[in-house]
Amino acid sequence: MTMPSPERRAFHEFVARHRRILLTTHVNPDGDGLGSEVAMALWLRALGRQARILNDSTVPAAFTFLARHLPIETFEEAAAEAAFDATDALIVLDVSNRQRIGRLAPLLDRHLVPVAVVDHHASHASGFGQVNVIEPEASATGEIVYGLIRESGQELDADMAEALYVALIMDTGSFRFSNTDSHAHRMAADLLTHGLDPQRLHAQVHSHASAARLRFFGEVLAALELLEDDRIVVLEAAPEQFQRHGLVGADTDGLVDMPRNIVGVEAVVLFSEVEPGRVKVSMRSTGRLVVDRLAAALGGGGHAHAAGVSLRATRAEARARILPELHRLVVALASEPRP
Ligand code: AMP
Ligand code: MN
Ligand code: MN
Repeated sequence: MTMPSPERRAFHEFVARHRRILLTTHVNPDGDGLGSEVAMALWLRALGRQARILNDSTVPAAFTFLARHLPIETFEEAAAEAAFDATDALIVLDVSNRQRIGRLAPLLDRHLVPVAVVDHHASHASGFGQVNVIEPEASATGEIVYGLIRESGQELDADMAEALYVALIMDTGSFRFSNTDSHAHRMAADLLTHGLDPQRLHAQVHSHASAARLRFFGEVLAALELLEDDRIVVLEAAPEQFQRHGLVGADTDGLVDMPRNIVGVEAVVLFSEVEPGRVKVSMRSTGRLVVDRLAAALGGGGHAHAAGVSLRATRAEARARILPELHRLVVALASEPRP
């Protein structure tokens, strides 16, 4: 194994210095954030630390099985205040933008808690912790957590391996997305030696769709628009559709990925108006367009090929901010041959 980077060494020293450690991830947590939290909490416990997980938002049904080893708490003012009083340090996973930890962010202002950030997003690369292990080349935050656990000399157990596998498959789209590389596959191969059942895990995380959600996907996909000479797909979801199907913002998960397979498409954008005047923009590139700078310029972020931003705007206003920028990116591509 190569020598740990100075940032990783600082992280191991951070863990050695603190006994009671609180962990968190971004609002509307995904498999990478939750899997990274659970694996890291189990590792910290194996090292003799107290570890507790507290997030802004609830755990989606697909991932509640991860919480069978240890509770994943959801923000509640009094309990969160007490948790901050009773901790020596905070580890923030899968996010390096302070605002994206949601209602925990104001608590950080009132409590002088040392922070370590472990993340793979490039858009806030400096991080807001005393220690920042930010590695944009990692396909998932879980890949960094895996490296940290191995460097510590601590044995990986089956439960840690399961949580890390969930982190890896969710952020790589089960090894389909452009962030998949030999490191991701080597990590998966090693995790499988710890006795997990990939078929069961895939079923567990992908078998939580409801009929309502599929009908909603059907409606939104049926109305897809092709712009820019069929290179950009635009999807829109209206407040009325969320209401009629009884769905919330998190239910759009996976929707924006579906039209990526249309031949010749360079990017997909979903304008999701969860409530009137509040639009979540999700962008996906099929590999040539870089979309995170566009998201970051409007206050969001993400990765080169998967980024998002929340806007106080109607769908029409959000389109007016995003689509001309995408037009510019597509024009810049025009000099390159289409694959
Ligand atoms: P999503 O479109 O929500 O699946 O997000 C795609 C990527 O963009 C993820 O890596 C998110 O962390 C990032 N992202 C989404 N929304 C935001 C936001 N409002 N601010 C910063 N990053 C975001
Ligand atoms: Mn995430
Ligand atoms: Mn991630």
